Amino acid sequence: PELFAPERINSKGFDLTHQPTLDMIEAARAPFASATWQAAPLLATKVAPQEPHPVQNPADPSDQPGQVAFASPEDVETALKSAKPWNADPKERGRVLARAADLYEENFGELFAVLSREAGKSLMDAVAELREAVDFLRYYGANAPDAKPVGTFTCISPWNFPLAIFSGQISAALAAGNAVLAKPAEQTPLIAHLAISLMHKAGVPKTALQLLPGAGDVGAALTSDPRVSGVAFTGSTETALKIRTTMAQNLAPGAPLIAETGGLNAMIVDSTALPEQAVQAIVESAFQSAGQRCSALRCLYVQEDIAEGLTEMLTGAMDALVMGAPWHLKTDVGPVIDAEAQAGIAAHIEAARAEGRLLHEIPTPNSGHFIAPTLIRVQGIGDLKREIFGPVLHIATFASHQLDQVISDINATGYGLTFGLMTRIDDRVQHVTEAVHAGNIYVNRNQIGAIVGSQPFGGEGLSGTGPKAGGPHYLSRFSARPVTQTDA
Ligand code: GLU
Repeated sequence: PELFAPERINSKGFDLTHQPTLDMIEAARAPFASATWQAAPLLATKVAPQEPHPVQNPADPSDQPGQVAFASPEDVETALKSAKPWNADPKERGRVLARAADLYEENFGELFAVLSREAGKSLMDAVAELREAVDFLRYYGANAPDAKPVGTFTCISPWNFPLAIFSGQISAALAAGNAVLAKPAEQTPLIAHLAISLMHKAGVPKTALQLLPGAGDVGAALTSDPRVSGVAFTGSTETALKIRTTMAQNLAPGAPLIAETGGLNAMIVDSTALPEQAVQAIVESAFQSAGQRCSALRCLYVQEDIAEGLTEMLTGAMDALVMGAPWHLKTDVGPVIDAEAQAGIAAHIEAARAEGRLLHEIPTPNSGHFIAPTLIRVQGIGDLKREIFGPVLHIATFASHQLDQVISDINATGYGLTFGLMTRIDDRVQHVTEAVHAGNIYVNRNQIGAIVGSQPFGGEGLSGTGPKAGGPHYLSRFSARPVTQTDA
């Protein structure tokens, strides 16, 4: 059977090694360097907006990219009342979503400016994020199912992929013909407002797609109302569990929850790995996007025979990373999202320093919410009590006879999102990848940046409910399950 969409075409993105391309991106982004944006509820029925408050730039406290008016309880009520499934035929829904993808690509300069100033995205991250967003729109649009929609879907998305994951959840729900109530992360309403405006412009009806910016109270209202028929959520495991409880108490018994949550992701590097390849994969997996990916590498296991040499190469590579303003071309590592995130990660690093486990850190810019890439020694993954969502890598060593113990420690965390293996022994690839419980396993490469349509992304256990995003099974959860004889 054909597993993946035969006509799938992924976005080309931009070649960042090509100077004329870089100049073209800069020219498209420059007019928005000090522009300001307004975000507010986008509802099918007009309402008076609330008092707006400022949106922060995580890299630069003196910059204010815009303002947001959060949704009030009345806005939530208005949205719930006016939500209507999108009853165009599936092909037409696919065409409209593809048009939205085209509009995203045409407006790349403005989208990059907002991603950088509101979410602290480096140019490389912004390019990858736009690609993933348009891939989702086209992939789900091309596969729009001809089945009955579930009804009204609440989509709650995170700040770390404020365009890609936001657009992915929404386009899947819309492709299946549902009405969508979109609640973006509190920190990233501007990019969400822009994205919804482009989807409306492409032809998604306003009754089928409404935006409700806000904090946790808006999310709570949108997951506890019996008029909501399903929820797509990406964020912390803790919040997903709360949503499940709320849904169980208030929504129809069969209401689907599609949750993508946290990870405590490991990589094993054995003594046969190519050190240069391993170091590159480690640096990208742990520090790209300032470690703010749920797929990011948190705990590295290096076989003891090569640990000293590999650590030396790794700390050398860390020293070469450039931290700074995300819109500077040379920047490798931008800021973390806000003061709260910065304080939480810094406390973790300070605790390691006090215990003498800090192996390496690099200098941090002194304004903005920056955390420098840091390496911390641990006995094993069991020492990590929670996911540290930033550029902090933990390292442990193992002897060759301990490999199975390492695998069982990794599985014992209960998470199962990504896993990396660097080895040149074929039998070991087979053994380890079968034994580790993780949704996405990567061998001899980095463990981030799953590609829509080729590498469906999602975890097991505490990492999510499945089905995987960007894969052939995702859309099925957005359609009503047909009643079969065995159900009756
Ligand atoms: N899909 C992303 C990746 O493969 C991670 C998504 C997330 O951080 O939520 O890196």
